[in-house]
Formats: sequence, C-alpha cells, structure tokens
Amino acid sequence: MLPKHSRRLYRFGENRAMPSDRSFDVLVLGAGAAGLMCAAQAGQRGRRVALLEHNAQPGRKILISGGGRCNFTNLHCTADRFLSDNPHFAKSALALYQPRHFIEMVDRYGIAWHEKTLGQLFCDRSARLILDMLLSECDRGHVELVLNARNAQVERSAAGFTVTCSQGTFHADAVVVATGGLSIPKMGATGLGYDLARQFGLRIVEPRPALVPLVLGGEESRFPGLAGVSAEVAAWAAADKAKRAGGKKAAPRFREKMLVTHRGLSGPAVLQASSYWHPGQPLVVDFAPGLPASAGLLDSLLQPTARRDLGALRQALYRALPQRMADRMVEAAAPQGWSNAALEAVERRLRAWEFHPVGTEGFDKAEVTAGGVNTDDLQARTLEAREVAGLFFIGEVVDVTGHLGGFNFQWAWASAVAAARAL
Ligand SMILES: Cc1cc2nc3c(=O)[nH]c(=O)nc-3n(C[C@H](O)[C@H](O)[C@H](O)COP(=O)(O)OP(=O)(O)OC[C@H]3O[C@@H](n4cnc5c(N)ncnc54)[C@H](O)[C@@H]3O)c2cc1C
Repeated sequence: MLPKHSRRLYRFGENRAMPSDRSFDVLVLGAGAAGLMCAAQAGQRGRRVALLEHNAQPGRKILISGGGRCNFTNLHCTADRFLSDNPHFAKSALALYQPRHFIEMVDRYGIAWHEKTLGQLFCDRSARLILDMLLSECDRGHVELVLNARNAQVERSAAGFTVTCSQGTFHADAVVVATGGLSIPKMGATGLGYDLARQFGLRIVEPRPALVPLVLGGEESRFPGLAGVSAEVAAWAAADKAKRAGGKKAAPRFREKMLVTHRGLSGPAVLQASSYWHPGQPLVVDFAPGLPASAGLLDSLLQPTARRDLGALRQALYRALPQRMADRMVEAAAPQGWSNAALEAVERRLRAWEFHPVGTEGFDKAEVTAGGVNTDDLQARTLEAREVAGLFFIGEVVDVTGHLGGFNFQWAWASAVAAARAL
C-alpha cells in the first residue's frame, strides 16, 4: 500500500502561498528521476531541500517510460553497459547504489514487478507507482517541491548559491543540477544543465541524440518500402578507425530485433547501435546472427547437386528472415553469377550489410541524450564539480549514457544517491 504523499508534500507554484523564508541547505533543479531520488535521500539525511521543476508536474518521463510500465532497472548493471568519454567514471556510483537497492525500495512499497527479458525489470501495473513511490520518499524527507519554477538562473557568492526563477528567489549552500538531457523537448527537456555547466567553467561533451531511430536516404530509402517488418539481427556502428587506432574498443554488437520504419531503421538492435553511431559511419547488420560463421546461410545452394537460381536463394533466406525482407534482400544483393565465389560474396554481404544512414530522427525521438557534462570535471564518488564546491550534476545531464533496458534509470538513481550522501 502506498503511503499518502500528496497531502503533505509541498507543491509551491500550484496553489500554496510561498513562505518568506526561502533558505534551504540544498536546491535540486529538475524533478525527474535523478532529482526526485536525490532530493528524497538528502531530505531523509536531515537536509532542508527544495526541488525546483519548471513543468506543472514532476517526473513526466517516468510516466511514459517503458511503454507506461517503467523499466526501472536492469539486473546486469555493469559499467560496460554505459557510454562515456571516461568509461570508468560511472563505476563508483553504480557500485554504491545497485539494482538490488532500488528493488528493495520497490518491494517495500509493494509494487509488483517482473523481469521481461535480458534482466530488464518492469512494473506489472503502471509507471505511476514508481513516481508515487519517489514522491512518498520526498515526503519522508520533507522535501519542498516547487512546480512551475521557470527561467531559473543560478548565481554564486561567498554566502552560497542563489536561484532566481518565476517562483521567487531561493538560497542554499549546495545546488544539484538534475535537469536531464535534450531528448523529447515536448516533455520539458531544456539545455539548462549544459548552460549552467558552462557558466561555472565545466566542459561539455557535445550532446547528441542516442537510442534513436536512424534515417536512410538515396537508394537505401527504398528499404522503408518494408515499413513495419521486423527481424532479429545483430547491428553495430562500424568501427571508427581513428578511435580504434587510439586504442578505443570497437562498438558492441546488439543481437535484437530491427524494425524497418517509414524513414529508416529502428527496433532495439538499431536503437542500441545508434548510441555508438556518428554521422558518416555505416551501420552494419548481420541478417543471420543465429548462424555461426562456419554454417553459412547459403550452404544449401553450395551443395554440388543443388539448384542455383533466384528461387533457391529466396528459399535459403526465408529460413533466416521474414519473407518480405528476404525478397528485398535478394533484389538488393543479387549475385554476380552462381559460382561458389559469387555465392560466398553474397553470404559475406548479408552477414555484414552496410547501411549508410543520413542522420537520426533527432532529439524529438531520442530516448536519451549522449554526451553532456564532461566527467573529467566531476568527482566520480560524489558528482560534485571539481572546481566549484557545492555544485553537483546528476542523471542524464552528465556524459554517462546507458544502453536500452533500464540502465538509464539505474544511472539516475545511483548518481542521485552518490550526490545525496555528499550533501
Ligand atoms: C519515451 C522514453 C522512455 C524511456 N523509458 C526508459 C525506461 O523504461 N528505462 C530507462 O532506464 N530509461 C528510460 N528512458 C530514459 C530515462 O527516462 C532517462 O534517462 C531518465 O529519466 C533521466 O533522468 P533525469 O532525472 O536525469 O532526467 P529527466 O527524467 O529528464 O528529468 C529532468 C527534469 O528536469 C526538468 N527540467 C528540465 N529543464 C528544466 C529547467 N530549465 N528548469 C527546471 N526544471 C527543468 C524536466 O522537466 C524534468 O522533470 C526513457 C526515455 C524516454 C524519452
């Protein structure tokens, strides 16, 4: 049974009069996943916390997450499931607050959940239960939630931080920036976090859309004739030679579904690969990821007595792909003849097919923003700015981006708790 939070949780900016004393220990900007968690934890540690949100409601992205069921964590939460210019940065916070800690809280609130696939945990009923839980936790910490707090500006003086916004002026010794990334502007995403980072001298890794559908153009725009067709593939962003020469690892392969859309490619395999994709790079797709390299897709045609023609080629592809997609691939990859060498060349192409996306569907469609506040300018254990005491950045605004499957929320929770323990 969820405790009642809404009666006690102050929601200034809705219908309550603002008190004259607006001094707090901590001001948290952004009442999304990370901001709610950080405010609750800091409040429960006895800090006087105000949580400033420019929307009229908190946690809007939580409500739409996981198709309305919120994929709130992932059981396999290792650092290699995150992208960052510094792949080690997230380790400390992720070790401090692990999926089991969040699950304990979810269980304490009696929220039923299930593992859908690959360690992804979803609510049985509704994402609203996760938001209500976080609001209840804020209530336990006597957090003052200030909604409709627009046009926030932050200044720092010897006396501490001052935040001025449409709801008035607030003072505190510490400010936690939890305003998220640029994805889905219609949900309230803004670049405030990046602006504040720059204002206080922190560097930014250029933000870019991630977990985002890719757009095809030119000849390849004929693929979307297959819009709606999906197949299990392995997809990956082609190796960036410059980065590999610099000792960076090749982008990982994702074996999941690919969906053809009206504009290009989507589905989990492509969304995952998109986070590693940069303009100009090919997206590579293995259309038969279940087959070992030794057992070829076209083995049946390579038998000495086998029929070798387009019909036989189609039949071979039907074993791996939906019929419409197989027909399209036969058109696109028709062999230059029927010799073993020609068939082997087709096979190689189908196992590493290169698409040349002309772009992504942008921040409007991106589930997250990659890049963000440069982790070199933050302390890994606390998320505090190295050069600005009392200024913290947590959640998606930081250059730490999870794979699809609950990792982004786990980063939001973990980075929030790391900061809260230092407040
Ligand atoms: C459709 C969709 C589905 C998703 N599903 C999942 C999922 O199932 N599992 C998962 O792990 N991740 C999922 N994600 C990603 C996940 O929602 C984010 O990574 C996570 O919410 C980041 O938390 P955050 O607190 O850093 O940012 P946010 O949750 O975006 O919160 C930022 C808050 O700051 C507020 N804000 C922004 N600008 C200002 C400003 N100028 N002044 C005041 N307040 C401001 C925003 O209104 C918002 O409330 C999904 C994302 C989308 C778009």
